[in-house]
Formats: sequence, C-alpha cells, structure tokens
Amino acid sequence: MIGAGLAGLGFAWHAAPHAHVTVLEQGEHPLAEASAQNAGMVRRLVTGARERALARRTHARLMTLPCRPGDDWHELAPFRATGAVLALEHDVHRLDAALADLRRFGITADELDAEALARRAPALAAARVARAVWLPDEGVCDAWSLGQGFLRGALRNGARLMLGTRVVSLLVRGGRVRGAVTDRGVIESDLVVIAAGAWSARLAASAGLRRAITPRARHLFRSTPHACAVDPHPWCWIDDAGLYLRPEAGGFLMSPCDETDDQPADGPGSRREPRDDARELLGEKLLRLLPALDDLAIAGGWIGHRTFTPSREPLIGPDPELAGLGWVAGLGGFGLSCGLAIAEDAARLLVPEATACEG
Ligand SMILES: Cc1cc2nc3c(=O)[nH]c(=O)nc-3n(C[C@H](O)[C@H](O)[C@H](O)COP(=O)(O)OP(=O)(O)OC[C@H]3O[C@@H](n4cnc5c(N)ncnc54)[C@H](O)[C@@H]3O)c2cc1C
Repeated sequence: MIGAGLAGLGFAWHAAPHAHVTVLEQGEHPLAEASAQNAGMVRRLVTGARERALARRTHARLMTLPCRPGDDWHELAPFRATGAVLALEHDVHRLDAALADLRRFGITADELDAEALARRAPALAAARVARAVWLPDEGVCDAWSLGQGFLRGALRNGARLMLGTRVVSLLVRGGRVRGAVTDRGVIESDLVVIAAGAWSARLAASAGLRRAITPRARHLFRSTPHACAVDPHPWCWIDDAGLYLRPEAGGFLMSPCDETDDQPADGPGSRREPRDDARELLGEKLLRLLPALDDLAIAGGWIGHRTFTPSREPLIGPDPELAGLGWVAGLGGFGLSCGLAIAEDAARLLVPEATACEG
C-alpha cells in the first residue's frame, strides 16, 4: 500500500484483518498532505449519482463509528453534525434531481426563506441567493481523527507503517507487479495498491502506465474572528457561484472554489502559500453575495491538492491492465464525504476475504 492519507489508511483498516498490509509513506507523518489540507465538510447533496451513493454510505458509517473505550475511534469522535446550507445564486434547479433522490432515502432537506436562512446561518443573512436548502444532518469530519482511528485498527490487526519511505517505482517482473522499489530498498508483495493522492499518476508511469489522475490546486483561506461565526453555525456552500465557508476558531474557513492543474514536486510537502488572485476572487464573491460579511478580513490560507480522474469518479480496485496493481485514488474533493465507502469498496475488490467484513 503506497500512501498514508485517508485513502491508504482507510484501505489498510479494512484489509488488515484479512491480509499482511504494509503502508509505505514518504512523509515523516501520516495524513499530512491532502488529508491535512481540506475543509472537512461532509456533503451528500451532489449532482453525481455514484458520488451521492458513496456519500450516503459514508455518512451512515461516520454516524456509527465505534467510539467506546477500546474502540478504534475512542476519544477521537471525528464526525460532528453541524447542519449545512446549500444555496444557489441563479441556477435554481441545479440540485433538484439530487434533492429528490436524497429525500427518497428519508434525508431531511428543507427550503429556507430569507428569514429562516438568516436564523439558521447568520453569515448568509440577506445573502444574494435565489434559493437555499437546509440539511440538518450534514456535518464536519476531522480528517486527522478519522485517519488515526483507521491507523489504530490497522496496526491492531498486524499492519506495518513505514514512514519516511518513498516509493521510487513499481517493481514489475514477468508482466506483473511484484513489489515496490523504495529509497530504502525493495519491498516485495503480491499486490501493490496506489493510494498516493497527487502523486498517483507518477507511480503508474514508473511501470509504463498512463493513468489520467490529475492534481488540481484549490485555495482555502481563514478569516480573522467575526461576530457571525457563532458555534454552532452550519457550513454553507453557494454551489453555482463557487463559494463555501464554515466557522472555525471564531472566524471562517472559506474557499472561492478555484481549480487549476498543478503537479506537486517529488517528495512530501504539497501545501503551498496562497496567491493574490485567489484572495481577490474570494473577496469579490464575498462582497457580491454575502452582505453580512462585508467587514470580514482574510487572515491567511493555503493551497492544497485535490486529485481527479477525468470522470471525477474515484479509481478503485484492480488495475485493468497490470496484474498485481490496485488503486484507491482520485478522491478529488470528496475524500471525507465518500472516503469510508471508497475504502470499503476497494478492500472488497482487492482483498476477497474482506467481502465478509461489512454487512
Ligand atoms: C483545499 C481542499 C479542500 C477540501 N475539502 C474537502 C471537503 O470539504 N470535503 C471532502 O470530502 N473532501 C475535501 N477535500 C478532499 C480530501 O482532502 C481528499 O479527497 C483526501 O484527503 C484524499 O486523500 P488521499 O489519501 O487520496 O490523498 P493524500 O492525503 O494526499 O495522501 C496520499 C499520501 O501518499 C503519500 N505518497 C505519495 N507518493 C508517495 C510515494 N512515492 N511514496 C510513498 N508515499 C507517497 C503522500 O505523502 C500522502 O501522504 C479537500 C481537499 C483540498 C485540497
């Protein structure tokens, strides 16, 4: 298994009771790349049917993570229900099919008038939006806590974590993958699973495979403390305008939903300093859409990497061409929202014995 982010550790948690799992991680710490750069919003109201189904399953799993003494998530409690507001500036029917689908599954999603919107989400008081929907059961997931639980469970079941170990190439012999060549030597294995986030395509290329898995940079910014950032405040996303925010540490964590191709260099450390054009884009959107935040000051931020396949669906399971190679990659902007279900499916596809591990 290459990569100790949410994808790799989630897979290891599911696979370790049934297989000998070694997790190779180039960084000195697990969960330090995309899994440490995200906004943590768990969102089921999305247009893609497969993503929505994965998100519904992940939400159900997050709500029932074992947290009692002795359990993997004891004293971690990664998921917190905060409620969410999904709003639309112009394209009011954009989420209709997804809403109907969620309601069919009994998920509450109520329309908000201007007064109710201001009450539910003070940051959106008098917001210049045409429609807003309240989802009381959405929430925020702390990636570090979720990943620590995965790691505890995987180690308890015999998995090994090798930090500071960078895979340089896949070891291919006799037409199949036989292991990984690392900067600390060769590690042989019947199955190598790539869960390397932004670096995934590069590892495939080391075995002569072209896999279109593209890292795309996105900014997150923090504001200085603001009176509207009361706790609890739902996370809020103006979907067609491309603007989201959620309260954190007395201010807001926000993104202008920018997206640019950007390949991080070899080795750990994909987080970058924010650019001025993205800061300006965020400022313009806040000014245009959210009068309640017209005095909000942006304090700082970072650029992180979300990694997508062309279809924007995750790549999971055996490689279609090269035996001995498996995938848990392309978790895009939905690694928290869908990650548990993705890891579960990947384990079912790659470790046949894992089929029995979930109901
Ligand atoms: C700005 C931003 C906001 C986001 N907001 C949300 C959100 O609100 N909700 C949501 O659901 N998702 C969100 N996401 C997405 C989520 O963070 C990702 O989908 C998820 O973290 C991906 O996990 P991963 O394990 O695939 O990748 P990573 O966490 O990047 O893990 C990959 C690991 O592989 C290791 N690795 C790579 N190459 C090698 C090698 N050659 N040898 C050894 N190790 C290697 C890396 O060091 C890294 O630790 C956001 C992402 C970003 C960047």
